[in-house]
Amino acid sequence: MDLGIAGRTALVCGASKGLGRGCAQALVREGVNVVIVARGAEALEATAQALQATADTVGPTPPSVRHVAADITTAQGRALVFSVQKEFDIVVTNAGGPPPGDFRDWDRDTWIAALNANMLTPIELIKATVDGMAARGFGRIVNITSSSVKAPIDILGLSNGARSGLTGFVSGVARSAIAAKGVTLNNLLPGSFDTDRLKSGMEAVAGKLGQDLATVREARQKSIPAHRFGTAAEFGEICAFLCSVHAEYLTGQNILVDGGAYPGTY
Ligand code: NAP
Repeated sequence: MDLGIAGRTALVCGASKGLGRGCAQALVREGVNVVIVARGAEALEATAQALQATADTVGPTPPSVRHVAADITTAQGRALVFSVQKEFDIVVTNAGGPPPGDFRDWDRDTWIAALNANMLTPIELIKATVDGMAARGFGRIVNITSSSVKAPIDILGLSNGARSGLTGFVSGVARSAIAAKGVTLNNLLPGSFDTDRLKSGMEAVAGKLGQDLATVREARQKSIPAHRFGTAAEFGEICAFLCSVHAEYLTGQNILVDGGAYPGTY
């Protein structure tokens, strides 16, 4: 299926690895020009090179791949990104998730950091781009959030809280005047995807339980009806569809991608 977005320009945050990289890869394959962002310059450059190799196979006009090493959760980082490209047709918001722990140990600064990364930063990115999209009559914003929005994860209280705040905000904005201007705003909720973040989480669990990583990994996969973790590539394909011309009537939604792990009917 032609997604109808070749030649569009996307900002993909947190894109040197994992789910953000999967989204960037799928968009490039559709002919979308991308600006990818992450803090670590080395991994980001390597990813940009890999994406460029994909872009070079897309004809007749290969999309461009630009990269900006920046912390997207800071005003300076965002200013750097927007100095490279001011207007975007597509924005994928993403940054690292907050650390696990017990809420009794979290002080105000810990909460502010989680709220900044996982709620206020996506809101700033929406604010900076959505009116331009509406004026041009096309826009797609996808926030990578978490299945914790639907079903809280006990050790991830910071994620449960901060992402729920973003979800409420997005729900309102998606249904505002932008909806009649060709702009959609959705959240994509990953369950368990095989990325560095998932691995570090399982390492922490293995340490706590005194088990080896392979045992924890196997048990976790068995607990998912699909009996496996998702891949960043398949996550990216779903993101690209949400960004497509075919998905204009799909807005204000929380789309869970979890191999059936969420046990509820609705
Ligand atoms: P990942 O593999 O650790 O990749 C995170 C990416 O974001 C990296 O490219 C990282 O590069 C970049 N990043 C982190 N902080 C950043 C910042 N402040 N500014 C710019 N870039 C930043 O993580 P992932 O598994 O893809 O997860 C992506 C998001 O989905 C996270 O919010 C995570 O909590 C959420 N999630 C993931 C899963 C899962 O199973 N994987 C499940 C539920 C929710 P640098 O570190 O170099 O900046």
